[in-house]
Amino acid sequence: MAVPQNRITRSKRNMRRAHDSLVAGNPAECPNCGELKRPHHVCGACGHYDDREVVAQVAEIDLDEEDAA
Ligand SMILES: [Zn+2]
Repeated sequence: MAVPQNRITRSKRNMRRAHDSLVAGNPAECPNCGELKRPHHVCGACGHYDDREVVAQVAEIDLDEEDAA
């Protein structure tokens, strides 16, 4: 197994990690509802893509509703 010959100092380690941060994507505005969404993806807020509804959205989920079998 390969073993590092020299110890990486905190400084060198942190200098390497200085470029590791993630950058935010390129959000696009949904043409249907105006919510920010990922480009080329279905809108998470209204379920539309290319001016069509492709994912049906539930208006409200009532968690208190008791459906005993
Ligand atoms: Zn939308």
